[in-house]
Amino acid sequence: MSNQTEPGRLIVVSNRLPVVLQKRKKKPMEYTVKPASGGLVTAFVPVLKKRGGLWIGWPGTYFEEGVDLQKFLRENQPDPDYLLSPVEITLQEYEHYYKGFANEVLWPLFHNLTSYCNFFPEYYEAYKRVNQRFSQTLLEDLRENDFVWVQDYHLIPVAKYLREEKVGNSLGFFLHIPFPPAETFQRLPNRSEIIEALLAYDLVGFQTPGDRQNFLEVVGLLHAGVTISDETLQVASIRTKERIFRAGVFPISIDFDEFSEEAKVPDVTEWVKMIREEYRGKTLLLGIDRLDYTKGIPERLRAYRLLLEENPELHGKVVLFQVMVPSRGDIGKYANFKDEIERLIGEINGCFSRLGWVPIQYSYRSLSRKELLAYYQAAEIALVTPLKDGMNLVAKEYCVAHNDEEGVLILSEFAGSICQLKEQAILVNPFDENSIAQAIKKALDLDPNEKRERMRMLRENIRRFDIYWWVDTFLGQAVPTLRNGKDSDESGEGDKRLCAK
Ligand code: UDP
Repeated sequence: MSNQTEPGRLIVVSNRLPVVLQKRKKKPMEYTVKPASGGLVTAFVPVLKKRGGLWIGWPGTYFEEGVDLQKFLRENQPDPDYLLSPVEITLQEYEHYYKGFANEVLWPLFHNLTSYCNFFPEYYEAYKRVNQRFSQTLLEDLRENDFVWVQDYHLIPVAKYLREEKVGNSLGFFLHIPFPPAETFQRLPNRSEIIEALLAYDLVGFQTPGDRQNFLEVVGLLHAGVTISDETLQVASIRTKERIFRAGVFPISIDFDEFSEEAKVPDVTEWVKMIREEYRGKTLLLGIDRLDYTKGIPERLRAYRLLLEENPELHGKVVLFQVMVPSRGDIGKYANFKDEIERLIGEINGCFSRLGWVPIQYSYRSLSRKELLAYYQAAEIALVTPLKDGMNLVAKEYCVAHNDEEGVLILSEFAGSICQLKEQAILVNPFDENSIAQAIKKALDLDPNEKRERMRMLRENIRRFDIYWWVDTFLGQAVPTLRNGKDSDESGEGDKRLCAK
């Protein structure tokens, strides 16, 4: 580690680097590199540009004998203002670390769906090994004042390995997915090690007060002699026998201005017109989800069937457009799940379709950004009904795309975004088909003025707590000198709103 006294840089550590690396066809050992898009990239790049820094992650391609990816990326840097540092992972490690421990253990467990867990010991061994490699890669470039910000459940142990190497830098972690209740967490065979690994950070961020509460409860159960203070504030302090660290609530968001502006461009508005023309005389309901068992898609479809069974007057008058974005198709449970959903859609369409009306339009693909923005705007009602979700950005994007302040958001009580949007969304229990069917009925019958007022307030809330607020508030708490400059709610009003249960 070099020992310089210059101001600290930001080091972002995430499972994937913010680039898409592709092998050239028919030219092994040669790659093309393109910058990736997405909320995290948008949020971090301004800070990385301003302070300089480094992004460490897996480049998305397996290690190939004779290829120096580090050299390649340094020579083909898509953005010269910060460095990329690749961590190499073998195919076998990808199977056990990424698909295995991250996505067959932590993902379902943290979403409180333990029946989807496969607790194979070899998964945890690979998880530790790959995390150790991330920390070794980081050590090669780390300077004394750098702040390290590790992202998400794939990389919980990074700080622990850094501390073992006597790293004294400030280390932060943000969990993008929920943190489960103690009883669920306790089922994890490696529960104590995972908690000890989280305690190695200086600041751990959660999406909601409930997630942080669950975490504090588990810390109290698994780590002796813990004292917690400021539990009602945005950032609580936890004193263990060894040290003090903090746990905060920082709901992630999107770039409001960019999204709202993009929704207005002529290509998008043209699409909106075409969609409205296609569904003229019908109300469009929208469901957009990655194919994932946490998203509550079968439950939503059954609720829609119930709505049609109980309200024959709606036949021919409503259409559900359900988009499923392919995801983790190489994990067996996901493939079976796709079959189940498609069977259900087939049954519903088979039962209700008639001349000029098919009740569910279904797409199994990723939409282009413009198409996505157009469907958000054309849909009178969004159905966001996950069984459990860290935040759910689709809910926020739907509202932000509605510059016309039309549109109704139906939102699951178990999505993280509920903490900010509960006053104006129509809330549902996603396990209760009847609750979803009634919510759709309520949305269809909502008074137009009330509808607009609800949407106006939803948008105002999302505008205020946008992605820049998220990154700035976290950094402001972790290392005030790294803040990006946007006012991050000095009034403390944000604290109160965000910590209300
Ligand atoms: N999304 C996309 N293409 C699509 C549909 C959705 O890129 O065809 C994006 C969407 O804009 C959103 C993200 O996928 O930003 C989904 O995020 P969310 O938090 O709702 O759920 P996640 O998939 O992260 O669990």
